[in-house]
Amino acid sequence: MKAHATEEQVHAVCERIESLGYRAHAIPGAQRTAIGITGNKGAFEPGTLEEMSGVQEVIQVSKPYKLVSRDVKEDDTVIRFTGSDASFGGRDLGIVAGPCSIESREQAFTIAERIAKAGARFFRGGAYKPRTSPYAFQGMGEDGLRIMAEIRDRFGLRIITEALDEESLHLVADYTDVIQIGARNMQNFSLLKKVGRLRKPVMLKRGMAATLEEFLMAAEYILSEGNYEVILCERGVRTFADHTRNTLDLSIVPAVQRLSHLPIVVDPSHGTGKRNKVTPLSRAAVAVGADGLMIEVHHDPDHALSDGIQSIFPNQFDELMNQIRQIAAILHRNVQEPKIQEPKTQPAVAKAGR
Ligand code: PEP
Ligand code: MN
Repeated sequence: MKAHATEEQVHAVCERIESLGYRAHAIPGAQRTAIGITGNKGAFEPGTLEEMSGVQEVIQVSKPYKLVSRDVKEDDTVIRFTGSDASFGGRDLGIVAGPCSIESREQAFTIAERIAKAGARFFRGGAYKPRTSPYAFQGMGEDGLRIMAEIRDRFGLRIITEALDEESLHLVADYTDVIQIGARNMQNFSLLKKVGRLRKPVMLKRGMAATLEEFLMAAEYILSEGNYEVILCERGVRTFADHTRNTLDLSIVPAVQRLSHLPIVVDPSHGTGKRNKVTPLSRAAVAVGADGLMIEVHHDPDHALSDGIQSIFPNQFDELMNQIRQIAAILHRNVQEPKIQEPKTQPAVAKAGR
């Protein structure tokens, strides 16, 4: 649509598209609204669409992914959160930090306080864990979600947690600000369709052996159902290299940014699996232009119930934030300063008899 197209014009174009038997996806951008059209079997016949008021042009998208592509929406998608200055995809980097798993209230609060004091705006933590062994800690379930919700209230952090399956999805969605879809579920198409029907941001992690096209097609599943708020996450892929848990593929960041308007963040914790490599690869991720980072932090990693060996200490996270703040500035990006929310004081109780 043209930059100044009105809401009525957008609506009229969507109605025309739907009346032709297609699905219309109005995706607002900073400059203008793009309307993606899906559901066409062969070439789309634009008819008189191009003549409707407010329409700039009708473009045929030849790529297999459409709604995620820059052909449909040129400007970057920025995902914002009401009541918070947290975002993904804008000038500010989206910094996510926290433990691999929520283990207890005390553990989660201790870590959340430290990462908030360092300037992170998002707290991560698994309540439902995809573990290689069925005998390993599987997560606290709903109790873990409740703890995360308390952390949002106490520290003003937005929270991110994984939905492991369709069964836990709605419960997770009730509590969280961002739904994480893990690497092992990147091609769980029925789960992708289900999160696509929700109206809540989704962080989609790259599958362990997924190509760029497969990664974008997985995101397309979510957008095709009407949820346009997807954050991609590079978390390393399997290669023959065995000095790290996975091989962090930083080259996918500019590759994604060339093709797609969606934000992409980097997870150097799962990407390397080694505490001593998390900070260097975080610096590199910011330098390569990532829209954010996802970092596992634990105050007592030797006793962590999952991923202790790749979790950094809170003081290492402080230093990491200092370093990436300087790197981001060179690229005219920004790592936000801490904004500490004071604990809510109990409302004064009116004295009886007055
Ligand atoms: C996680 O973030 O803790 C996780 C399990 O990640 P991934 O799906 O990338 O392995
Ligand atoms: Mn983990």
